[in-house]
Amino acid sequence: MQRLAIAPSQFQNQQIILTAEQQHYLSRVLRLREGDRFIAMDGLGHWWLAKLEGNQAQILEPILQPNTELPVAITLMAALPKGNGFDEVVRYSTEVGVVAIVPLVSDRTLLNPSTGKLERWRRIAIEAAEQSERQIVPTIFDPVPFATALSLAKDKNYICVARGDSPHLRDCLQNKDFARSGDSKLESWADSPHPQSPSIVIATGPEGGWTAAETENAIASGFQPVSLGRRILRAVTAPLVALSLVAAAFED
Ligand code: SAH
Repeated sequence: MQRLAIAPSQFQNQQIILTAEQQHYLSRVLRLREGDRFIAMDGLGHWWLAKLEGNQAQILEPILQPNTELPVAITLMAALPKGNGFDEVVRYSTEVGVVAIVPLVSDRTLLNPSTGKLERWRRIAIEAAEQSERQIVPTIFDPVPFATALSLAKDKNYICVARGDSPHLRDCLQNKDFARSGDSKLESWADSPHPQSPSIVIATGPEGGWTAAETENAIASGFQPVSLGRRILRAVTAPLVALSLVAAAFED
């Protein structure tokens, strides 16, 4: 059955007030007619069976679906790559299972992104979460300077560093004695879908890499420098490789 992401504020009693864009999507793109059913998801892990009724939808019943979320809350802090590269970072990392993405403005980031881009990334996250049948739509934060992001780090923080002799991320993840997210420094930074799951931050740099000062500051803020192997990965590829390692280490 077709699925549609709905903002929690659109739910009113047993009705969903649809936006013009959603009405267009349901009737023109998905070709649903009056009375047809679809699945409404609030992006927070709840699904409902809903029935299209004009510019609204009636909620019929909640749907209990298998949990597709990872048992670890991963926040990706990724330096903004050139051009539209971040679109791919958002899409792929949502598919792999992040709960939050923090776009970083780093020393070697070339451009500050426009507001239009932020909206675009949020739309991509919604689409990708629907596509991969997730309960959670990852939160995409406003871009922040890396120094600001460092002060908001969580329990286990890793900074991916190309070159050098850092331990492999895979080896660092073998010790699964992670703190619980309830103990994290800033609870609202990335609320976990599983209150009991550990939380991990992964930071990846831009095309030009991190500056020495950035890596040092990150280490001073409790980030463990890690390697993703001997090859030099692109700024768009490195997050995907890092997240796959975390997912593989934690997935039941
Ligand atoms: N131009 C830099 C590499 C930048 S790669 C250089 O030549 O050294 C972009 C980012 O991807 C890096 O900042 C790092 O965070 C990550 N990355 C790429 N390859 C990596 C690897 N083998 N191990 C760890 N991180 C890597």
